[in-house]
Order: sequence, then C-alpha cells, then structure tokens
Amino acid sequence: MKIILLGPPGAGKGTQAKLISQKYSIPHISTGDIFRKNISEQTPLGIKAKSYMDKGQLVPDELTIDIVNDRLANDDCKKGFLLDGFPRTVKQAEALDKFLDSKDSKIDNALLIEVPREFILERMTGRRVCKDCGASYHIKFNPPKIEGKCDLCCGKIIQRKDDTEETVKERLDVYSKQTAPLIQYYKNKDSLCVIDGTSEINEVFQKVCNILGSDK
Ligand code: ADP
Ligand code: ADP
Ligand code: ZN
Repeated sequence: MKIILLGPPGAGKGTQAKLISQKYSIPHISTGDIFRKNISEQTPLGIKAKSYMDKGQLVPDELTIDIVNDRLANDDCKKGFLLDGFPRTVKQAEALDKFLDSKDSKIDNALLIEVPREFILERMTGRRVCKDCGASYHIKFNPPKIEGKCDLCCGKIIQRKDDTEETVKERLDVYSKQTAPLIQYYKNKDSLCVIDGTSEINEVFQKVCNILGSDK
C-alpha cells in the first residue's frame, strides 16, 4: 500500500497519517518531521531548511527529493509507505514517479483532505506538536490526555515556530500556487480520492478507511 496525503497546511494530514500508519502497519514519512529533526540536530540540511521553513516557504526541490529517495530505499518501505507533506510541487511528484517506476512500482492512492480556508487558521494557531515523535494535538479539538505530554511517547508538547498567523497565511499562498496543481496531476493518473476533512478526527479516519479498505 503506497499512499500520498495531500491537502493544505492544517488539513489534518499528520493526524490521519499517525492513525493510518498504525492501522495498516506502514511507515509514516513526513518531510516536515525529517526537516525539523535535522534542525534540532543542527545538521547542514537542517541549517539550510530552517531559513525557508521559518518564512513559510518551501525548501528547494533539490534538497527535498534526495532525502525522500533515500528514505524510500529503506527496507521498511518495501511493503508500502505513507507520504505526508511530499510531494508538494509537480517537480517532486515527477521525481517520485521516476523513483517508483525504476522499481516497477506506483502510488496506489493520493488522498486529498479538503478543508476550506476558514477552518485553517483556528486549527493551525491551536496546534501543538510532540517534540519527539511529531504527533499533532489541538488545544480545543484534540488535547493530549495529560497536559503538555504526548499520548504516544510521553514527549514534551510544544508549539511550532511556523504556526503563527502571519506564516500560516504565507503557507496557504504557497499551497495554492505550488502544491494545489498536484490535485490535477493525480486526477490525470486516476489515483486521486477526495475526503471532506471538516468533520471530527475519527469521522475523517473512517472515510479514509472506507477508501483504503481492510487490505494491508
Ligand atoms: P504542515 O503540517 O503545515 O503541512 P509540514 O510539517 O508538512 O507542514 O511542513 C513544514 C514546512 O517544512 C513547510 O512549510 C516547508 O517549509 C517544509 N517542507 C515540508 N515538506 C516539504 C516538501 N515536500 N517540499 C518543500 N518543503 C517542505
Ligand atoms: P497537517 O499535517 O495537515 O498540517 P495536522 O494533522 O497537524 O495537519 O492538524 C492541524 C491541527 O488541526 C492540529 O492541531 C490537529 O490536532 C487539528 N485537527 C486535525 N484534524 C482535525 C479535525 N478533523 N477536526 C479538528 N481539528 C483537527
Ligand atoms: Zn510523541
């Protein structure tokens, strides 16, 4: 099962990704999480990525494509994977297709989680994340069971630096210009499934499971 999650920032991709990855036992690959780990470890990649991420802009394709290709070459991706936040440009999507073609493989589903702009600001400014595993919480819609601690790994819960109102607006513009064209890209390949992301987390997950079915 090889899946891509598409949707604007704040649509709920990361939240659904954790649930999908658990249910279907496939690795959750989030380019945002990979960049944030590199930033906290102050690697050369992290230092380069940080300046773009802080402004709400995309990290250049040249940096992003290679790290995903490396990750997908890991053994744990052989039976499938879930990409969250990648691809974000047509160039990245083409690179992914090229990589999968070379392995005689392809994407099974591109799941688009649709959430209108008016929901997004509240979701993003109320978002809190686990510093260690990247799990997403929300102060109102999905608080952790114990305040300040991740339900999954007990890690510390923090607010992302790029979840401010100003940066969110920039990220939404970037999404419309650079990422939204992927909707047509996957439609053309007959792999797009659209999911209404405005209902509560478990209802959205139910819709996702209806599409993915019970196979692993
Ligand atoms: P969100 O949860 O809002 O969708 P992510 O955690 O996926 O955000 O990404 C955070 C930031 O990391 C993005 O704003 C961008 O700067 C960078 N980033 C993540 N994935 C990519 C990608 N595929 N291409 C370029 N930049 C990316
Ligand atoms: P993305 O990865 O697409 O940027 P997240 O999964 O991090 O989005 O979700 C953004 C914020 O919205 C988080 O605070 C999350 O807890 C919350 N959220 C996710 N899905 C829903 C939902 N269906 N209803 C309400 N809030 C949600
Ligand atoms: Zn955690």
